[in-house]
Amino acid sequence: MKVTEHIAQANDTLISFEILPPLKGKSIESIYDHLDPLMEFKPSYINVTYHRSEHMFKKRADGSFDKVEIRKRPGTVGICAAIMNHYSVDAVPHLICGGFSKEETENALIDLNFLGIDNVLVLRGDAPKNETFFEAHPNGHRYALELLNQVVQMNNGIYLEEDLMGGIKTKFCIGVAGYPEKHFEAPNLQTDLGYLKRKVEAGADYIVTQMFFDNQKFFDFVTRCREAGITVPIIPGLKPLTTKKQLSVLPRTFHVDMPDEFAQEVMKCKTDKEVETVGTEWLIQQSRELKAAGVPVLHYYTLGKPHVVQQVVAAIK
Ligand code: FAD
Repeated sequence: MKVTEHIAQANDTLISFEILPPLKGKSIESIYDHLDPLMEFKPSYINVTYHRSEHMFKKRADGSFDKVEIRKRPGTVGICAAIMNHYSVDAVPHLICGGFSKEETENALIDLNFLGIDNVLVLRGDAPKNETFFEAHPNGHRYALELLNQVVQMNNGIYLEEDLMGGIKTKFCIGVAGYPEKHFEAPNLQTDLGYLKRKVEAGADYIVTQMFFDNQKFFDFVTRCREAGITVPIIPGLKPLTTKKQLSVLPRTFHVDMPDEFAQEVMKCKTDKEVETVGTEWLIQQSRELKAAGVPVLHYYTLGKPHVVQQVVAAIK
């Protein structure tokens, strides 16, 4: 079922979770171990992130180095199929531009369609680690908008091979990313919102946001989207903070601000166990306020902390 159908049929705020594929070599059991404690909350769907290859240098016997490409977390499509089969819950694979040609994207979409997966979250992806700027694949997409256009084309039965006639029309429900605190490359929020609007006009069915720790930033973002004529559902993305180090790692990595009151409380903590308690309580308060405001879905980035998310969702149910 499509994310938008879940939202349309609901009479309360829904819950969804986001997971990463396990590192290469690990079994699917690690995914089930992660998700099992969360399934009692009946998530409407589960997102699975997509990871591009990274360049690594491997030392040869003669002391020189080989530059090799390694994908550390493969398996997004297979994990989505396994989740749907194991839990009978919808899965939302992320699709990224970075590192993929249009042909590879088309093949992934064909696989997803055959597997009965109705949803995709389309993203640009970031530059590989150790590289400063995002570079598109020579035969790939530069922006999420272009990737979205490819999915929309397939939804209209149009494939890359121009002479392919009568191709089936896929029915993907398409999500895109939005940034309450602005995407870090955008010159300002207004410009960023302009590009977000273009994604919606091109066929995005809903928006899911980057994490934020200050609900006011989300509420202001929704207001500005509505003023700009963006009417699709906007789903808040939420992440628990569990270590003191994250107080600087999360702003550096995700370009988000920590509210002063929250940062002060975390800084007072003597151990990460105490930080986890403060972070959990903060996320419960955030979730309660967002739910009271009538957000369609609370989307939790579980990222290795299912027990924290479990406590949060139990507290707001
Ligand atoms: P875009 O919408 O393409 O925007 C990128 C930048 O370009 C923005 O600054 C925008 O303002 C600007 N822009 C957009 N269109 C144009 C245009 N036509 N001309 C000029 N500028 C333009 N990354 C992964 O690698 N894998 C994942 O699974 C993943 N999941 C994510 C899930 C969520 C909910 C979020 C919020 C992010 C996720 N990311 C993931 C990270 C994401 O790929 C990065 O934030 C990336 O830098 C931007 O992706 P985007 O889809 O927002 O890009």
